[in-house]
Amino acid sequence: MDKRDLRSFTLEKLTEEMKSFGEKPFRAKQIYGWLHQKQVTSFDEMTNISKDLRKKLEENYTLKNLKIVEKLVSKEDNTSKYLFDIGDNIVIESVLMKYSYGNAVCISSQAGCRMGCTFCASTIGGLERDLLPGEMAGQIYEIQRDTGERVSNVVIMGSGEPLDNYDNVLDFLEIIHSKEGNNLSHRHITLSTCGIVDKIYKLAEEKLQITLAISLHAPNNEIRQNTMPVARKYDYDSLIKAAKYYADTTKRRVTFEYALIKGVNDGEDNARELASRLKGLMCHVNLIPVNDVKENNYVRSTEENIRSFAETLQRLGIETTVRRKLGSDINAACGQLRKSYKEKKVKEE
Ligand code: SAH
Repeated sequence: MDKRDLRSFTLEKLTEEMKSFGEKPFRAKQIYGWLHQKQVTSFDEMTNISKDLRKKLEENYTLKNLKIVEKLVSKEDNTSKYLFDIGDNIVIESVLMKYSYGNAVCISSQAGCRMGCTFCASTIGGLERDLLPGEMAGQIYEIQRDTGERVSNVVIMGSGEPLDNYDNVLDFLEIIHSKEGNNLSHRHITLSTCGIVDKIYKLAEEKLQITLAISLHAPNNEIRQNTMPVARKYDYDSLIKAAKYYADTTKRRVTFEYALIKGVNDGEDNARELASRLKGLMCHVNLIPVNDVKENNYVRSTEENIRSFAETLQRLGIETTVRRKLGSDINAACGQLRKSYKEKKVKEE
């Protein structure tokens, strides 16, 4: 059996593991501190852990480190894209966005994705594998190491569907915010989902203070089904109901993401229907100009169209913002860099 990744244990689980070695809880805390506070990448660096125990750790566990294979820095804005090698010829990507309030990082939750949204590059090769909690945290730690600056905000909005990797994502959320570790407030974390309804209910019950973002991208089920296969499993009304439940239970405002695709979902009638669907829900709509992906024929709505879509929603009482387009010169949209890297590799081989 493969050795398990020590960075992927929550403090509670690590304490249990160490107990089975006859170690006291404070040892687990020390090891956890090395991994998640000091963020070391080898057992040897854990200098206050006895050589004996370090050896035992090395024999029984591994550290799944991430290696930067490519870093692209946008010339247009303060966005950088990192491509990480996670072993077995698998690469994943993360995006760093520098804002006045701090450094935000968009992390991947899976290598690839099996949700099949027609506009998304991450899903084209299907799902390679789920990421471990330590590999999600590792994206943040590596970027902190590379920049020498702390990451203040995290969005789980890179490749993958986080609610399709639920347990690992939950452990990651625990690890990243624990005081004995990286100590990042849940209020500074956003989880974005394509809308797996039963998992939204489950997440609501966890009563975390994270922000939930739902990729809606349509005003009704017919249009949604055309671009998002998940809509065939969970219909529109049940998704909106789950979003309301999440907002009511956690008292956190839900974000709806809506990528505007010319002629598909960007009409005035679409805006009006969307507003009527969201009325009364504690929410906020984030309009995104769709990024072109070669494989599909979708075209971004015009600036003017985006503006008038936003105005219609606002006039009808729905809080709306338009996302700034970041890093388009470095393939910063979901899955694009990873995909172009893989294509390049195939050509080389
Ligand atoms: N699976 C999750 C998170 C990853 S996708 C989800 O669906 O939310 C992150 C966001 O990027 C989603 O809102 C997704 O719909 C959006 N996205 C994917 N491809 C896009 C594209 N070509 N242009 C604009 N947004 C895109």
